[in-house]
Amino acid sequence: MTSRNPLGVHALVWVGDTSPTSVASAIESTAAAGYDLLELSLHDSTSLDVPGTRDALREAGLQVACSRGLAFDADVSSDDPAVVARGQELLQESLEVTHALGGTHLTGALYSALGKYNAPLSRTGRSHVVGVLTELAAEAAARSMTLGLEVCNRYETHVVNTARQALALADDIAADNVVIHLDTYHMNIEEDDLVRPVLEVGDRLGYVHVGENHRGYLGSGHLDFTAFFHALADVDYRGPITFESFSSAVVAEGLSSDLAVWRDLWDDGTDLAVHAHGFLRHGLAAAAHRS
Ligand code: MN
Repeated sequence: MTSRNPLGVHALVWVGDTSPTSVASAIESTAAAGYDLLELSLHDSTSLDVPGTRDALREAGLQVACSRGLAFDADVSSDDPAVVARGQELLQESLEVTHALGGTHLTGALYSALGKYNAPLSRTGRSHVVGVLTELAAEAAARSMTLGLEVCNRYETHVVNTARQALALADDIAADNVVIHLDTYHMNIEEDDLVRPVLEVGDRLGYVHVGENHRGYLGSGHLDFTAFFHALADVDYRGPITFESFSSAVVAEGLSSDLAVWRDLWDDGTDLAVHAHGFLRHGLAAAAHRS
């Protein structure tokens, strides 16, 4: 019983940094737990050994996807052109790193910092987002790469909190290689349910994060994954589905605090990831059947 979707796991289930030792450990653990794909956050890509990581991923037979959010001083949703320029630079670097790793998907909050904003997005800020991402999409297309717009909750961005807003942003960017990235954790906070957004996005869905309402063990919270998996099957989604979970047992400097990871949801990443892989595999297989 193999999944028609590549199943991925976020590196923060294993390790909190991107030193060579940590990345090697994440790659080994990801493959051992049966996953097809490792997602690396590029918030700390300066210590990443890119050629070494690419070779190790290939040797382990793993795909890679990269994700990131921006920062308040490097934010393409800012009114300030200097802040926008720094954000654009981060995105271009991240696109290059993703490509050099052998990845085709760069996704996340590519349109803003990850954090609580104190005011709504301005018209100028939104036009900066559209301008920068239109250019980035062209650069990505030249490398046959895809950009994902992850829909995040109101405490982590003010740019897109719902699938509908992400579709409107993608419409304005108007590039075929810009896809919508849904995450059940954020959907639980912002959307009507876990089904309508999937149906609304349809074939523009290009990346999925599966996380519980508290970002711990899948199935230990109150999210209706059966309904979500049914919706994915109904739109015939074939793209990556990546398990995302955070605990203060594994801390990434900066990112963990940006995501408000303040407590231990688990202490054994291997047990968590093996469990999540089974949960996804069985849930998706069951959802492929209609009675
Ligand atoms: Mn996510």
